[in-house]
Amino acid sequence: MNMETEKTDYLVIGAGISGLTVARELHDAGKQVLVVEKGRGFGGRMATRRHGKARFDHGAQYFTVRTPRFQKLVDRCLEAGVIKTWFHKMPQDTAPAGHPRYVGINGISDLGKYLAEGLDVRRGQRVENLSFLGGVWQLETDVDTRYEAKHLVVSAPAPQALKLLETAQIVYADDATLEAFASIAYAKGLAVMCVLDGPSGLPDFGGMKTDNAPLAWLADNQMKGISPEVPAVTLHSTPEFAAEHWDSPDEVRGPALIAAAKPFLKSGVSEYICHRWGCTLPLTSYPADFWASPQVPLVFAGDSFGGQRVEGAVTSGFAAADYLLGR
Ligand SMILES: Cc1cc2nc3c(=O)[nH]c(=O)nc-3n(C[C@H](O)[C@H](O)[C@H](O)COP(=O)(O)OP(=O)(O)OC[C@H]3O[C@@H](n4cnc5c(N)ncnc54)[C@H](O)[C@@H]3O)c2cc1C
Repeated sequence: MNMETEKTDYLVIGAGISGLTVARELHDAGKQVLVVEKGRGFGGRMATRRHGKARFDHGAQYFTVRTPRFQKLVDRCLEAGVIKTWFHKMPQDTAPAGHPRYVGINGISDLGKYLAEGLDVRRGQRVENLSFLGGVWQLETDVDTRYEAKHLVVSAPAPQALKLLETAQIVYADDATLEAFASIAYAKGLAVMCVLDGPSGLPDFGGMKTDNAPLAWLADNQMKGISPEVPAVTLHSTPEFAAEHWDSPDEVRGPALIAAAKPFLKSGVSEYICHRWGCTLPLTSYPADFWASPQVPLVFAGDSFGGQRVEGAVTSGFAAADYLLGR
């Protein structure tokens, strides 16, 4: 089949929060940029999912801010009514006043949606093949679209980024760097999204860490404010349970996590959905906020580089954009 090729200056693989941060900065600096995302939504692991009238944050649960540049973006989002503070203090916090934990007004994916406004993001397209010929990147996706770009930014977690780069069959890094990339590993996770037949009864703000393995975290999305009509609780497993039950049927792993949550919940679970996360948080990350190839116009960004969590991913996106813009 003859596929038409679309051309752009900068192509970003991934509409997670790091890829969208890079794309936003490039776009705002007047560059021609296109984002290709395999999923249906914006925000990657900052994921919100609907099930009937219930709504769940089933990846990242909230985010925190330590750096002035991210704080500036967060302040803009607060002012625009995109995000809010969910809570300040967990029982584990050492600072007496705690610190703000931010969430989207309608779900954690709101931050990604905000950054994506006005950007050219092609969703539902998985980049499967790369080549670099005559100084130009060529990309092919699983839905038979084809792109050409002068600069490529890969914001997928390092294990996925490395696999994708293998398809290009080029030298883009020295052996020591490739080895460092290969050592970046992620913990797995399992999320079980539960519709309850009444209020959860979770204390305080409706979120809690627990050592009641295989359960690691519970959050009431109704108390969080994103599922106003239906009581909807997100359960997160320990990484060990997720790894052990990676290929188990949902009928096995779902009820196991629900059983561990039972002592904390005042209402029963009427429905549940399971979601596997191949990458939750990086166990180790590359010791720089981004990486640029000395051989080809290629940049790696994301929480494999900027460090764990949403803020690490955003920091990586800012740093990668600064590099590409020569700032
Ligand atoms: C269960 C869970 C709980 C978490 N809890 C928290 C929390 O409470 N607080 C916190 O700060 N952080 C939390 N995190 C971590 C946080 O979500 C991540 O650090 C952050 O969102 C990473 O952003 P990113 O842009 O680097 O990567 P991603 O969000 O993974 O973005 C990469 C994007 O690339 C896309 N992609 C990959 N390959 C391709 C391809 N070949 N073609 C097209 N698109 C592709 C993916 O679909 C994805 O959208 C959690 C993560 C998980 C999974």
